Amino acid sequence: MPDHPAICWFRRDLRLADNAALTIAAGSGRPVICVYILDDETPGEWRMGGASRWWLHKSLEALDADLRKRHNRLILRRGRADKAISDLVAETGAEAVFWNRIYDPAEMERDRRIKAALKDRSLQAESFPGNLAHEPWVLRTGNDGPYRVFSPFRKALLALDPPGAPLRPPKGVGVPENWPESDELDDWNLLPVKPDWAGGLRESWTPGEAGAMARFEAFIEEGLDDYAKGRDHPAKPNVSRLSPHLHFGEISVRQLWAKMDWLEDQGTASVGKFRSEVIWREFSHHLLFHYPDLPERNWREQFNDFPWRDYPEGLKAWQRGMTGYPLVDAGMRELWHTGYMHNRVRMVAASFLIKHLLIHWKRGEEWFWDTLVDADLPNNAASWQWVAGSGADAAPYFRIFNPIKQGQDYDAKGGYIRRWVPELAELSDRSLHEPWNASEAELESAGVRLGETYPERIVDHAGARKRALTAYEEIRRG
Ligand code: FAD
Repeated sequence: MPDHPAICWFRRDLRLADNAALTIAAGSGRPVICVYILDDETPGEWRMGGASRWWLHKSLEALDADLRKRHNRLILRRGRADKAISDLVAETGAEAVFWNRIYDPAEMERDRRIKAALKDRSLQAESFPGNLAHEPWVLRTGNDGPYRVFSPFRKALLALDPPGAPLRPPKGVGVPENWPESDELDDWNLLPVKPDWAGGLRESWTPGEAGAMARFEAFIEEGLDDYAKGRDHPAKPNVSRLSPHLHFGEISVRQLWAKMDWLEDQGTASVGKFRSEVIWREFSHHLLFHYPDLPERNWREQFNDFPWRDYPEGLKAWQRGMTGYPLVDAGMRELWHTGYMHNRVRMVAASFLIKHLLIHWKRGEEWFWDTLVDADLPNNAASWQWVAGSGADAAPYFRIFNPIKQGQDYDAKGGYIRRWVPELAELSDRSLHEPWNASEAELESAGVRLGETYPERIVDHAGARKRALTAYEEIRRG
């Protein structure tokens, strides 16, 4: 009966365009109840971290405003999603529930149960492909197994038909006669108050669908042409910074893909490289789908015997950007201030924690989970294991990023380090990457007092490198 509502359950698809669940709900002729459920209770899920909660608040505000322009609105519920959906169905007499998929293991399991329960009650329950170019189970190797290596995965993915054209936002979204009750967004306390540490996030980002599209367009204007080279230089404006928008589904991969196809036809440089990075995201989803304990367990079991150190002071120095290694500290401070860290620096900072300090990659994974606005289970887990050497297609363990040389190679003029470690700003470009080698006179004239205005190194690079390789040898020999 068309007057019985349909529920459109928003999750990580906080947009109106290219939203299959919303399009189908709107097209059904039923009144549409749009709902977001803050579910912190599903067993096994990774509860959203602080920076993600800030983003979520802002993104829900934007989505509600966009729905209100269409005379609809967003209903907010909190608690276990299975109960919240069941309650909403009972309260509204809804006969259909639609959603777009997410692929984190606990949520997939939960959604399967919800779908089965709705169907048992003879209700329509339909899910649609989520925010990937292709479902994570589609690709299989010649031996009918999952891919473990990126290059053949990428090749196979590019050989598939391209993802379908993105859908336009629905013109009209039916409105129910009576609205069910909704929580107040402010009551969810997603924004930090005491202290309010989100000033840097507010300066840096515009969450929501319009913000995502504006970011994408700015990247095409300013960054894409030189992306292939510039993407490695954290002071350059060549990366897209789309990761949080993609994570929350404010822009879809199908939208990116369609635009990339068009730009490629126009001969725009670097499109292939950018697409490759987006395929890394597909690969992480593929890995997590096939190896659901990737966020918790070493993919290579030999790492279970790795002699990790319990070193809380080292972990704290790393988290605060006080290791005495300027590039690492710049990255960790960028993360704290903006909720983002440039990819090159993520690799260096992660490698430093794991290899220079011998702290378990899971401590880094947890910190990133809490502080990144783009915290994303597949990408975060796969990337940490990649750096540790314990993952599929991982960097070999003996590849130990040299934080000094990485700074010299990728931030030669020091624009990035000077921005985030201003107490070193007056040093020469050379000394900026290794202030401990600067002369007394230079340190003095730059106002730097090691151990006072900027920390001494917490570990010596050459010694730490040797120690890490010895530890690795131990597990390699078994
Ligand atoms: P761009 O270079 O503009 O790339 C475009 C998009 O491609 C990104 O938005 C992202 O969705 C995808 N992408 C790019 N690089 C990678 C990659 N190496 N792996 C997977 N997808 C990629 N990314 C997250 O989205 N969430 C995380 O929690 C996360 N944790 C990470 C932890 C570590 C230790 C490391 C080394 C990397 C992590 N990454 C994570 C991957 C990568 O650093 C970010 O996706 C990227 O820096 C986001 O910036 P961007 O949007 O400007 O990227």
